[in-house]
Amino acid sequence: MLATMLSVALARSADAVEPKRVLVLHSYGQNFKPWRDYAVAIRQEFERQTRWPIDVQDFSVVTARFDDNNVENQFVEYLAALFAHGAPDLVVAIGAPAALFVQQHRTDLFPSVPMVLTAVEERRVRWSALTQNDAVVAVRQDIPALFANIFRLLPETKTIAVVIGDSPNERFWLGEFRREIEPTMPNVKMTYWNHKSFPEVLKEAATLPPYSAIFWVQLQVDGSGAVHEGERALKDIHDVANAPIFSYDESFFGGETVGGPMTSATRTGRKTAEIALRILDGEAPADIKTPTLQYGPAKYDWRQLQRWGIPESRLPPGSEVEFRSPSAWEIYRWQISLITAVILLQSALISILVHERRRRVLAEVQSRQRSAELAHINRFSMAGELTASIAHELNQPLGAILTNAESAALILKSDAPDLKELREIVEDIRRDDTRASEVIIRLRSLLKRAPFEQSDLDLNQVAQETIEFLQPLATARDVELDPGIAAGTLPIRGDRIQLQQVIMNLIVNAIDAISGLAGPHRRIGLQTARDGDFAEIGVCDNGPGIMLDRFDRVFEPFYTTKPQGMGMGLAIARTIVEAHDGRIVAENKPEGGAVFRIRLPLSKAGRALA
Ligand code: ADP
Repeated sequence: MLATMLSVALARSADAVEPKRVLVLHSYGQNFKPWRDYAVAIRQEFERQTRWPIDVQDFSVVTARFDDNNVENQFVEYLAALFAHGAPDLVVAIGAPAALFVQQHRTDLFPSVPMVLTAVEERRVRWSALTQNDAVVAVRQDIPALFANIFRLLPETKTIAVVIGDSPNERFWLGEFRREIEPTMPNVKMTYWNHKSFPEVLKEAATLPPYSAIFWVQLQVDGSGAVHEGERALKDIHDVANAPIFSYDESFFGGETVGGPMTSATRTGRKTAEIALRILDGEAPADIKTPTLQYGPAKYDWRQLQRWGIPESRLPPGSEVEFRSPSAWEIYRWQISLITAVILLQSALISILVHERRRRVLAEVQSRQRSAELAHINRFSMAGELTASIAHELNQPLGAILTNAESAALILKSDAPDLKELREIVEDIRRDDTRASEVIIRLRSLLKRAPFEQSDLDLNQVAQETIEFLQPLATARDVELDPGIAAGTLPIRGDRIQLQQVIMNLIVNAIDAISGLAGPHRRIGLQTARDGDFAEIGVCDNGPGIMLDRFDRVFEPFYTTKPQGMGMGLAIARTIVEAHDGRIVAENKPEGGAVFRIRLPLSKAGRALA
């Protein structure tokens, strides 16, 4: 094992001194398609397969462009001169023009040097002229199969334009195409552009009739004698063509042509390198028989299929489709999955939050509703207490008045009423009446003296807080609250809770007043303002207004026009306002609706503010 490895290593170091010299003959030039691709493939395969260093020397059979034997002889002499000091180890001719050249000049061209003809169509090989030193890697062009491919993909094709030049090799192929195709397709119009200049070819390609196809053979020397290396010309035609382009070789596949069966530079290159290396290794060229290379499985360009609307169902079984652009899903599968997951998660979160918010708003409305109801209950219970004590306190003087009045009535019925007694009775009634009104005054002052917490307040803030408190209730009852809070502060002294109760009462009354109106008109305004040393607050609505000739009667206890009303809300409101040394008045607005105004003295600090 070790010995084998050593001998290989020794062989390699020894070979490094003596490289194998390979003369490569190109057709027309080194950059002419399709042969350029074959040359590249052969070199790559040399590098991959060789056991020795290989010195490749490239020459081009430029003369083949124009079929001039005289010049060719001089080219043979030139090569002989170049290799005078030692012939190459192998000659490789790429393409039919190079193959024709070497076969023609075989006797003068290194006759004892082995030669490989490659990338040459089998009918371009002069098989009878091959020497013992020659090996061939031939390819086969199946012209009917190439055209059958066009009709398979585009069954309605009526015109086929063949792009081909006018060099000797191209003339040969023009003849072959005409001979093999025309008799089989009598209904198809064939046009050949071999006599056209390249600009004319472009013009033709752009203006083909409907149901046309272009078959690209090659355009190496156009009708005007201009030489084309292939790649550029094909691209230019593709850019202007109004019909799909077909061809026969892999080296024209990759952007411009639709595809189909084709010869392959890669496979030919591999085979050529393999045979060349066997010859360099000592095998006799004539002993190496290589079967002609056939087309591989048909290949198609997905972009071209798309462009010409050719369904994949028309492709032959086993064919390959290349250059398929991956869909966005295929490229960004993970990113799309991730983004979708995030969006779904986000949507779930949003809907949970929206649901929560709705629940919260509902709960808030309910709680405000309860607070407002509580305010009413306060009002009612306060009124209940008041009623009980008023009744109790008034019972006695009223009872005495009644007794006295009845006594007076009896006295007046007698024939001689005792005027003195009557005077005393009237005096008693007057006294009891005074007592009754004293009871009321005392009760009112009792309420007035009800303990409340005096503190420094900003009336604006008190109003704002009350509005905020009632806003959800107003929204729920479909009423628009329109606050107009004065700029700055309105400092007063008072009880925040009681004042809020007053404002709340006014707003709740206003809501009651407009509850009979249709939706968009239900509006309640609340304004605060400073007037000299006073702070003012007004609550107005666009309801029916107060149905009284004396508006101040609404402040009287037990005055109500509501079926369930108690008539104590405004009475208590007035008591509270007056306990703050303020005044409350009710009015109707000229344009309709009621307005309640409260006027409260500013605190010392408030008055000091300019
Ligand atoms: P209640 O609301 O229990 O009736 P109030 O003392 O708060 O007691 O109101 C007394 C009455 O004053 C109401 O029944 C209603 O007739 C009248 N009133 C109060 N506010 C308004 C208003 N904004 N528009 C019209 N009338 C009102």
